[in-house]
Amino acid sequence: MMNIPFLRPHLVNQEDLSPYLREIDASRQYSNFGPLNARLEKVILGDYFDGVGAVTTVNNATTGLILALSRCKRPHGKYVLMPSFTFSATPLSALWCGLEPYFVDVNKDDWCMDTVMVEELLSTLGDQVAAIMPYATFGTDMALTYYASLHDSGIPIIVDAAASFGVNGQYGHFGKGFPGAVVFSFHATKSFGVGEGGLIYSRDEGFISDIRHTENFGFTEGRETALKGLNGKMSEYPAAIGLATLPAYPHKISERQKVHQWYVDALTDKRLLSEGWELQAAKGRVPYQFMPVLCPPEKNNHEIIETLNQDQIEARTYFSPPCHQHPLFSNHKRTTMHHTDHISRRIVSLPLWEEMTEPLVERIVKRMTFS
Ligand SMILES: *Cc1c(COP(=O)(O)O)cnc(C)c1O
Repeated sequence: MMNIPFLRPHLVNQEDLSPYLREIDASRQYSNFGPLNARLEKVILGDYFDGVGAVTTVNNATTGLILALSRCKRPHGKYVLMPSFTFSATPLSALWCGLEPYFVDVNKDDWCMDTVMVEELLSTLGDQVAAIMPYATFGTDMALTYYASLHDSGIPIIVDAAASFGVNGQYGHFGKGFPGAVVFSFHATKSFGVGEGGLIYSRDEGFISDIRHTENFGFTEGRETALKGLNGKMSEYPAAIGLATLPAYPHKISERQKVHQWYVDALTDKRLLSEGWELQAAKGRVPYQFMPVLCPPEKNNHEIIETLNQDQIEARTYFSPPCHQHPLFSNHKRTTMHHTDHISRRIVSLPLWEEMTEPLVERIVKRMTFS
């Protein structure tokens, strides 16, 4: 085991969880939108989205993306526009909805999908575009106004906001007021973790209600299957973990931001940022899931990771290879991938977890100067 692991998730302690487990023992309700799920949704909608719109819990964000896309895709569409610089779950959700991912390059600075390219594709592909799935890369407060207007004009938008729960941006919590779907992951490796879980938000309450039927076998009120549904419900146990985590989350967010800032300071002090290393131009108050950084163009990110490994430091290359280089997706359509290729060749994902100390961060950055 590495002595500095890449991630060191820390969910709730047993003592904080126990009262909720006792409630489950008393209610004997273990799933099917039970009381703890209902409370988790209510608290999140009120505290994070100021009561605007609606939310529904899901058993993970991948199911959430599939559910949202299946309910809003245009009937004669074929393609889902999305970045290649994302996790496999984004293009997989398109395939599960009988659609094809169409990969679009990202911007050089914030690593989010290039909207100029999106606009060009909309004019050449027209009605063949079934939906668009932008990804708020590593939690950045990606501008949503353009996508909101597309959604209102009839082109459905599902935002992959897997890393964005707890992000405070220009207009409050990320996604608040968005008319399409915003899908958050509560996987244990994300900043707000319940094990396996997720949440779909939309300003459109009818859309969320529709998704809720879809994630419950497509049942109508009379328990007849009317929609092409599946079982996407969150059980009461992860909902208990979520409720027990909420009071601690503001502190977890600030711990993660503190570690991120130590990295920025150390990278600056050791002059790495003036020697070709680069940071994502991230916006908003992000509860960083890990520390992404680009190595200088002339270096090889895998060699840097090897150098770190020799000092018992575990690092990764999220998302390298980018999706268009994975075997399942390599034949799908794509734009030029200039920035995606460049970023994925240089990306180094460094350890970031809540109990990390400044000396650990300094040790990692010092090791990078030798690479
Ligand atoms: C983690 C992640 C997902 C999948 O979330 P799950 O809850 O594990 O299904 C989807 N997209 C991105 C970009 C992610 O990082």
